Amino acid sequence: GRETRLRVVLRVRPLTCTETQRGDRQVVHSLRDGTVHVSAARHDAIFGFSAVFDAGTSQEAVFEGSGMRQLVELAVDGFSCTVFAFGQTGSGKTYTLMGPLTQSDTQAASPSLLGLMQRSFACLLEQSQSHGSDLALSASYLEIYNEQVRDLLRPGPPCALPLRWSKTRGFYVENQLSVDFDSLEAIADLLLQALDTPPAGSQRRRTSAHALNRHSSRSHALLTIHVRSRAKEGVRGARASLSPPTQGPQPSACPSKQGMLCFVDLAGSERVKETGSSGELSVEANNINRSLLALGHCISLLAKSGGKRTHIPYRDSKLTRLLARSLGGSGITLMVACISPSSRCLSETLSTLHYASRARRVTTRP
Ligand code: ADP
Ligand code: MG
Repeated sequence: GRETRLRVVLRVRPLTCTETQRGDRQVVHSLRDGTVHVSAARHDAIFGFSAVFDAGTSQEAVFEGSGMRQLVELAVDGFSCTVFAFGQTGSGKTYTLMGPLTQSDTQAASPSLLGLMQRSFACLLEQSQSHGSDLALSASYLEIYNEQVRDLLRPGPPCALPLRWSKTRGFYVENQLSVDFDSLEAIADLLLQALDTPPAGSQRRRTSAHALNRHSSRSHALLTIHVRSRAKEGVRGARASLSPPTQGPQPSACPSKQGMLCFVDLAGSERVKETGSSGELSVEANNINRSLLALGHCISLLAKSGGKRTHIPYRDSKLTRLLARSLGGSGITLMVACISPSSRCLSETLSTLHYASRARRVTTRP
């Protein structure tokens, strides 16, 4: 119930081959103690975050240094936890959450490159084995595309699901599929099914090739892991093996807890004109901008309110409705802002840095 600030960390990806070849300059330099320095012709600014990960930081170091492990533990403890990756297309959001997306369906990424998601799943399954608590894990996977909520786990052509509100549940998606899993393979399969090319041929999560990034995602994706835990009396420590078998089932010592861990991969934050999009793509870009704008607006109002009651316009977009609890309610939230160090991305980088700095003032009451 104590007021807790959003934890905001920054990841600066390395310059890509293309950027190096065309002679882009590196305008972002990370300094020590969680600050970055942006220096270009007319800009010279320093930004501070809970942690800054530079181009040389491994996926494992990001997992440990971001506080992701603690977030997993809090979800097991019954809290609602959210991590969201934010930044322009090509800044490394998906890489940070899932690792490099391989070109072929069969080729798996090297374990050292696995992202926050896979590391969290491993951590969850580890906890479920070591704690003696009986964890039941299930997953749901949604995308928001053109202001429509779609279920990525439901086979067949995508259909829009209604987003509703109730006093007890807050905003929720009606009829969303939730699938139980109990191994790394099972959850990995689930994600592959949703992201990879299904037999029908078309990728279910909307991606499209355009000027900025071939793999840029044109939708916001939300993967939620529901964690139900019941501590089993008699399993902890040596007492379990000593208790006589005649005693029968034990009443549970702790009440059951229900936590969740939500991973949000936001669509790119760049402006429409930079993407060279037109027609259908420009409708997409406008919708993406609209929900990111709504998100930015909510964040800045939350940051200004300083914990006091203010009207926050969560209803302005589907995205902000779904993130209402993470941002202003009882959730615990980690934001990973992603930026490119290239001089060509300067204006977007600055906007991401300002956005992320504002988010640091947002508080929730877990
Ligand atoms: P986004 O999801 O923000 O659009 P991606 O995660 O797809 O961006 O990253 C864009 C490109 O940069 C990809 O080819 C990805 O493999 C590469 N990349 C991103 N971050 C890193 C990193 N930290 N180290 C190495 N390559 C990275
Ligand atoms: Mg992406």
